[in-house]
Amino acid sequence: MLHGRVRNSKRRVSLLRVVVMQRRLILSLCDLPPRTRPNQAWLERVWHNWPRSFVERFWTNDKGKRAKWIRKIAKAETAEKDSIRASFEAQLRFKELFDGGSSFSIPKWPNSSASEKAAKSLLNSFYNPLFYEANGFPERKAEVTFKRSDFIACFESERKICPYCDNAVQLTKLDHYLPKDSFPALSCHPDNLIPCCTDSNETKGTMLPLDPAERNQVEHWFHPRLRPTKDRFRIELIPAIGPSQEIRVSAIDASEQKAIDNFEKMFGLTKFWGAELAGEAGLLFSEIEDELKEYGEPKTEANLRTRIEKRQIRERLKTGKTALALVRAEFLGFVLSDKNLIAQQIP
Ligand SMILES: [Zn+2]
Repeated sequence: MLHGRVRNSKRRVSLLRVVVMQRRLILSLCDLPPRTRPNQAWLERVWHNWPRSFVERFWTNDKGKRAKWIRKIAKAETAEKDSIRASFEAQLRFKELFDGGSSFSIPKWPNSSASEKAAKSLLNSFYNPLFYEANGFPERKAEVTFKRSDFIACFESERKICPYCDNAVQLTKLDHYLPKDSFPALSCHPDNLIPCCTDSNETKGTMLPLDPAERNQVEHWFHPRLRPTKDRFRIELIPAIGPSQEIRVSAIDASEQKAIDNFEKMFGLTKFWGAELAGEAGLLFSEIEDELKEYGEPKTEANLRTRIEKRQIRERLKTGKTALALVRAEFLGFVLSDKNLIAQQIP
């Protein structure tokens, strides 16, 4: 997101097959005639492309909870089934929100009836526990299963540097960008599962990255894959050099300031980056002064500027590969763009 579009996992297609599986189940349930009681044989027909062993595990190996949810949906009134079907189909169209100019909007999952709640639990169970280690989904070939760790392993650079905060990732979390509590149709959608660090995952929590009541729900929101933040903000230090360093992230295009503010709110970046950059300006000038002395160059504005520019190029090359390189490159850009900061260093 900060470093460009978060790329596809090479296992994207495997996960899309899970979405197909969810869709077939939900639509088949909503189409069931009244008084039909689904059982394992019914599910085997619905999922005839998937191995029987998986269907059996799905049906029996959850203390009957999934079977109970399935039967609750089957028994629901037509109006409730219509609501489940419509919500599911609309949520799957989430990408259209970012195409721009569209008045299309997606609903939060309805929670008013027992069948709607059951459908939410059923859909989310595909992610947890079904995607986790002891479980997994059947692959096209034989008995091999596809698990959450396989999906994560396919993100290469994103696994090392968090696309949300630019810090190093110790333990990769999978963030549901649109939270699964409100968007269970996207609980296993590969475009909604973003590898990130533990802190960003926790800070974001269940915050909704869209405005549910607005006509254009995503006008003021970015998306890690569909609308990344790369090159859309700059970092400013307030004051430029001081014992307490506050920072501000401001949009390069002023019309995007609200989206940048929302992004900042979602991940608490100014607090985190501010702490990382505290004292950085003072340190920068003292290091560069030492370098100039070492090379016998006079401390002129031009020499300071050249050295800072070189550092900025180095940091830019490390962006997305080294922790906080993007933040440092942005900070150096701020130093270079400030009218007085460099001039003040000259005695
Ligand atoms: Zn992070």
